[in-house]
Amino acid sequence: MPENLSSQLEEYLPPPVLALAKIAGKEGSELGQELYLVGGVVRDLFLGRANFDLDLVVEGDAIKLAQELTKNSRAKLTVHTRFGTAKLNYPGFSLDLATARSEIYSKPGALPTVKPGSLKDDLIRRDFSINAMALCLTPNRFGALIDLYHGKDDLDNRLIRILHPNSFIDDATRILRAIRYEQRLGFKLEAETEKLLRRDVAMFDTISGDRIRHELELILKEDKPELVLWRAGELGVLRQLHPLLKGNGWLSQKFEQTRQVDIRVSLSTIYLCLLIYNLTEKGNEKFISRLNFPKNSAQAMRQTLHLKAQLHKLTNPQLKHSDIYQSLHSYTTTAIQANALASESPIASQHLQLYLTKLRYVKTLLSGEDLKRMGISAGPRIGEILSALHKARLNGEVRTWKEEEKFVRTWRH
Ligand code: ATP
Ligand code: MG
Repeated sequence: MPENLSSQLEEYLPPPVLALAKIAGKEGSELGQELYLVGGVVRDLFLGRANFDLDLVVEGDAIKLAQELTKNSRAKLTVHTRFGTAKLNYPGFSLDLATARSEIYSKPGALPTVKPGSLKDDLIRRDFSINAMALCLTPNRFGALIDLYHGKDDLDNRLIRILHPNSFIDDATRILRAIRYEQRLGFKLEAETEKLLRRDVAMFDTISGDRIRHELELILKEDKPELVLWRAGELGVLRQLHPLLKGNGWLSQKFEQTRQVDIRVSLSTIYLCLLIYNLTEKGNEKFISRLNFPKNSAQAMRQTLHLKAQLHKLTNPQLKHSDIYQSLHSYTTTAIQANALASESPIASQHLQLYLTKLRYVKTLLSGEDLKRMGISAGPRIGEILSALHKARLNGEVRTWKEEEKFVRTWRH
């Protein structure tokens, strides 16, 4: 008799999600299709970690079942006919339905050829034993555990194990995934898996930039990405992405520090800028093109290094606020924030921080319109006066409306 987890499932899933899983199982059974909950959610149920990203696999036709399910609900349905998958969006959670499939890898790193298959086929194509368990949702077997690769034992022994020796060759993104789960869960790579991982690191060269970048983005979304990067460094994986990337103590310290300051920009972009901080501009360009970073991230990374090369201008403790403003106003907040965290000069860091928290918000009280009202004729002169006024304001030389007016009157002569 397979282990039955119906009571754990009832406790783990929030009531509306549970109700839906049951309805889906029933609808499936009426269509003669077995339905299973698979992947991360089964793993996380055992671990007692929240995860309501439901992945369902149907032995049959996922799209047909998804259409049945939407008939009597307000769910929004998105269908990918080519992949035989459907996504149902409910208020507050979503459900991914896939037709069970088998995969054949024609060559390393290529996307596999896919055809409909059984649950067993669908499980063997997965990355690790702990992600290859399924729970049946069909009413007469509700909660039955299907664990063909002893994922439950590996969870108990806290191990990340691939399903067959060619797994990393078929898809080297699994190398990064293995390390990500290992560090997220505080597990260990199973000994043979670690050996094969070390053997196959060079297989990264078969993976497209987009796919590697996607995995890096997932790493940077973890609670402690530095652990993953440190381990990737130790296993020789980072070197494979770029010869000079390091997941060392410096990086860990900076990542931790990043989480302690109140940053107003995306955390993962700052992490990324810290990751490339010790590359040369040329090395950075290579990394950007290898991973095919989109414009925004590439700009943040480039500006970070550009500003780093200018930081010597900010190490003088006597700098006026207007000088700091002048040096920094053309940079993105991300580049400035990354440098504030990474700079070796405490004075430069203070200046960068001052810019981020105060100087960038400084505005003159008077506007161009006010200047015109004061009798200054439209033209470039207005811009010059406003810019001088802004400088004076940054340096605390004018504070009130009256002082600004006085400043303008003296300046015009
Ligand atoms: P997470 O908590 O990180 O989202 P997850 O297990 O839900 O974990 P997903 O990336 O959402 O991970 O993928 C869902 C499932 O698809 C995984 O559990 C795994 O079984 C399978 N999977 C994902 N990527 C791969 C891959 N590269 N090779 C094989 N199987 C994969
Ligand atoms: Mg997931």
